[in-house]
Parts: sequence; C-alpha cells; structure tokens
Amino acid sequence: MTARTALPPEIAEKVAAGERLTFEDGLALQNSRDIHAIGRLAHMVRTRLHGNKAFYNRNRHINYTNVCALSCRFCSFYRKRGEEGAYEMPVEQVIEVAQKAHQAGATEVHIVGGLHPWLKFDYYLDILRGISQSCPGLHIKAFTAVEIVHLSRIARMSIEEVLVALREAGLGSLPGGGAEIFDDRVHDVAFKGKVREDKWFEVHRTAHSLGIFSNATMLYGHVETPEQRIRHLIKLRELQDESLQAMKDSNSPDTPRAAFNCLVPLSFAPEGSELGELPGPTGLSDLKTLAISRLMLDNVPHIKAFWIMQGVGLSQVALSWGCDDMDGTVVWYDITKRVGHGTHQEMTVPQLKRLIREAGFVPVERDTVYREIHRENEVVSA
Ligand code: SF4
Repeated sequence: MTARTALPPEIAEKVAAGERLTFEDGLALQNSRDIHAIGRLAHMVRTRLHGNKAFYNRNRHINYTNVCALSCRFCSFYRKRGEEGAYEMPVEQVIEVAQKAHQAGATEVHIVGGLHPWLKFDYYLDILRGISQSCPGLHIKAFTAVEIVHLSRIARMSIEEVLVALREAGLGSLPGGGAEIFDDRVHDVAFKGKVREDKWFEVHRTAHSLGIFSNATMLYGHVETPEQRIRHLIKLRELQDESLQAMKDSNSPDTPRAAFNCLVPLSFAPEGSELGELPGPTGLSDLKTLAISRLMLDNVPHIKAFWIMQGVGLSQVALSWGCDDMDGTVVWYDITKRVGHGTHQEMTVPQLKRLIREAGFVPVERDTVYREIHRENEVVSA
C-alpha cells in the first residue's frame, strides 16, 4: 500500500462526531503522512475527555528479579541464574523499598520481574502481605499477565485462584505488560515461548470479572507491521467493550467489575537486545503511534506517554498528541535503560509539574485508578 499524504476527510468527521473508527480507518491513519492532522484529531479527543489536565503520580517501580526462564529476543532485561548481573531481591528487601517509598509520599508501587524458575508462590504472597501490612494505603500494582500465568503454573492453581489469592494478600491492580503485539508471527519472531494473546486476555478478562482494574500495553517499533498495531488496539478495544458492559450490568457491590484504566504504548528500545540491529522507532513514529492509539481506543480513558519509554522531552510533546498522563516519579527502573541511563531513573514531583505546565497543561496528581489527589498546604513548585 502506498503512503498517502492526506488524511481522508471522513476520518476527521467521524472523530469530530465521536464515532468509532474502523480497522480501515486505522490503516488510513497509519498510511497518512499528515502527522499534524493526526495529532490535532488525537488532541481533540484527549481534550474532550480530560480538558487541559495532565496526570502524574507518585510511584516507585520495583523489579524484584531479572532472572527469567524465557529469553525474549526484544528484551535486554533478563539474565540467567548465575550470569553476571543476575539478581533476585529477598522478600524483606522488596518490602523495605516499598516502605521507604511509602514514607517518601508514594501512593503506588509497581512491581514486576522476570519469570524466576525457582521462587515459590509464597514469595509473591509474602511480598504483598508484607507491603500491605506495613504500608497502609499504598496501592500495589503488580505482576504482568505473563507473571500471573507463570504463578498459576508454579502454584498449580487456575488464573482465577491465583488472582484471588494475590488480592487477599494485598494486590490492588495489574499492570499491562506482556501484551507486546497480539500476533502469532510477531510472537514467534520476537518473544517465542511467552504466553500468547489468548492467555494475556484470559488474565485481564478474569481480573476485570473479579473487580481488579488493569492497564494494557503495546510494544511497538520492532518487527510488527502497521496493520498488526491496529489489530492489537482493536483487540484491546473489544475486551474493554465487554468489561465496561459488565460493569454497567453489575449493580451489586458484591460483584464488582473492572476494566482497563489506561493504555501504555511502549516504544521499543533495541539497545542490548537480540534485535539490536533494528533501528527502533523515531520521534515522529512515537508521536503518530500515541496519537493513533488515542483515536482507536475510544473506550479506554487514558493514554500514557511513559517518560521512561518515550523520553522526557517527547512525552511532554505527546501531551498535545492524545496523551494525558506522564506516569510518575518511578525512581528505579531496570527493564529499559536508554543509552547513558542507569537503573536509577527518577523524576521529582516538581520536575513533573514543571514539564506539564510548560507543555500548557494543568498538572493533576492521581492515584493508580485515576482518582485525583489534592494535597493541602503543598508548596507549589515552579
Ligand atoms: S520480556 Fe519478560 S518474559 Fe521475556 S525474557 Fe524479558 S523478562 Fe523474561
């Protein structure tokens, strides 16, 4: 298909009217070179949903181990046990890090790691119990769908039983990782061995049916095609339709339902991975993908420009390209390290606010499920 320069006018009309875009519309967006028109449309939608607010949160990421039974080709994070740089944090250390974050004002810990071949299910339960008992009010967002399937295997429990046990131990919600691109060909080239889309969706569908909110991701800019990105977004949209309908139909507090809070489009970082020869996304393809995500996912409230993945400067720009959230303080992030960055990747609240204000938006602190947090007597920073 040849690249078109202009965007078909019917797409702009549909977006203005709040109508859902089709797969063909998504392809037309992908094939258009008029990225400014795409950005303007995405901004219209984002403004309709959130006005001039841009969200951030006080969080702390904890990657409890980089030891992983798998070897996804796009991943530069994993190590094999005994390999230089391999680590696993004892339960006490994970709890201690969470406690420090809590004392420093964090409202959320985001805990994910590799698929450790020997850690027992109790390790994960002990982490959750230890944090929830010693850090009241701290939301624990933990374990991607891939980790949940791994836990169901090691614990010999169903996905639902695992989620119920984790929730009883303190789990608050699920992050969106492990989705990558929902396509078997891409799966076999870039992350063979990982769970396929059916399992990823089973985990999130089950979580939603239990009233556990979650996020979704899309790892873009590696071996996938534009068509596969659009299909990925539409598959997420379909589950969200289902989950939102179930929320609407459920009017009993005894059967709470949940859905996706946000999509986090993840810009592929080739450095250090087996796919290191690939060029990776450019700034413009990042912006285009974020904007198209906003336009296609009409039923997911938030699109995140995660400053670690898209970079600080581009995330700031992305707030005018359909995104309404920059994520948070992070502090420590071991999964993706850009050239020149180590594991300590931290943004302070004043820095986040300044970036958001400079981009022309009003910074609003949120919790994990996007409830606004208004702190009294807070010193307003520059
Ligand atoms: S992407 Fe996840 S499952 Fe794959 S190798 Fe890396 S840590 Fe392991």
